[in-house]
Amino acid sequence: MTGDGTRAVRAGLPEAVKNEPTLPGPVFAAHFHLPGDVSGPYAYGRDDNPTWTHLEQAIAELDAPGGNAHTLVFASGMAAISAVLFSQLGAGDTAVLPDDGYQALPLLREQLSAYGVEVRTAPTGGDAQLDVLDGAKLLWIESPSNPGLDVCDIRRLVDAAHARSALVAVDNTLATPLGQRPLELGADFSVASDTKGMTGHGDILLGHVTCRDAELAAGVKRWRKIVGAIPGPMEAWLAHRSLATLHLRVERQTANALALAEAIRARSDVTGLRYPGLSDDPSHTVAARQMRRFGSVVSFDLGARERAERFLAELRLVEDATSFGSVRSTAERRGRWGGDAVGEGFVRFSVGAEDAEDLVADVARALDLSHGAV
Ligand code: PLP
Repeated sequence: MTGDGTRAVRAGLPEAVKNEPTLPGPVFAAHFHLPGDVSGPYAYGRDDNPTWTHLEQAIAELDAPGGNAHTLVFASGMAAISAVLFSQLGAGDTAVLPDDGYQALPLLREQLSAYGVEVRTAPTGGDAQLDVLDGAKLLWIESPSNPGLDVCDIRRLVDAAHARSALVAVDNTLATPLGQRPLELGADFSVASDTKGMTGHGDILLGHVTCRDAELAAGVKRWRKIVGAIPGPMEAWLAHRSLATLHLRVERQTANALALAEAIRARSDVTGLRYPGLSDDPSHTVAARQMRRFGSVVSFDLGARERAERFLAELRLVEDATSFGSVRSTAERRGRWGGDAVGEGFVRFSVGAEDAEDLVADVARALDLSHGAV
């Protein structure tokens, strides 16, 4: 049985060929030599590219080790999410979305509704989506949810959805395949923004969809060809290169996230602390059943906007920036975007790969200073 570290460093590598590199470089091609009838894997660059093929093989191995899965890479996480929703749903269908997921989901809801798809929503926590499943064609799960870090019982929801002949897609962005494998929990699609932890350096946008069913994969691929939401070869190659350190990064960042969460838990001036890896977190029991690592995002509330802003300004090792999953810690006052059901002092903290002691000390200092002059 191959371990996560071995799988991460070897995923998607082609057979060794004498005098060729281990991971072939990016192939820049809009078209490929194509004499006579159209045949072979590569004809036009919007349909397929050898650099994507290596990356797709790598992600498939991570999402479904030893399994027969198909991965399709996209220009961004939103491109991947849209590909599943718009390839599978049509006028008259019903979809169930979380109401506490990524903040662009309401935009998708609007667009789906405009196309005649009925959209119902329910919170992630407490498996509340179960209550609105009847008659749905597709259930969309985001667990852990961003930014609230609630968790649902994926297997339980999948069983209920399949009993009603509904498909299930899971946004696995926060967990990465090393934290959670939705296909093994029965989901039909594992989808992610690889802009986050998968690539982990905060320097590229990318997304993917993995599924076991060849027909479902063909529908998603057809959608990619129609909208052309394709990654550039350089991004795809950088992503593959980054996967080699996925295990190292995820191990370090989850250990750091737990250390930070524990340090914050010990303080009396922070409320609403959430991290699924904390044994007393409301998500922990279900998370521990279905997750192998709990992710790099910690959230908490500093009560007021001014205090959160002072806290962010005082941090020296942590950049005030959005997104998450990078090796460099970032944090932001989430309420500045609007759209998330969070308080004005709510902070979403993405824990990087710094030394835990340095990070914890920096956060403690900034929290102390965040109270301002007394
Ligand atoms: N899904 C989740 C959970 C996210 O947090 C994000 C981005 O923040 C996305 C999807 C969208 O990904 P992208 O920004 O790569 O389009």
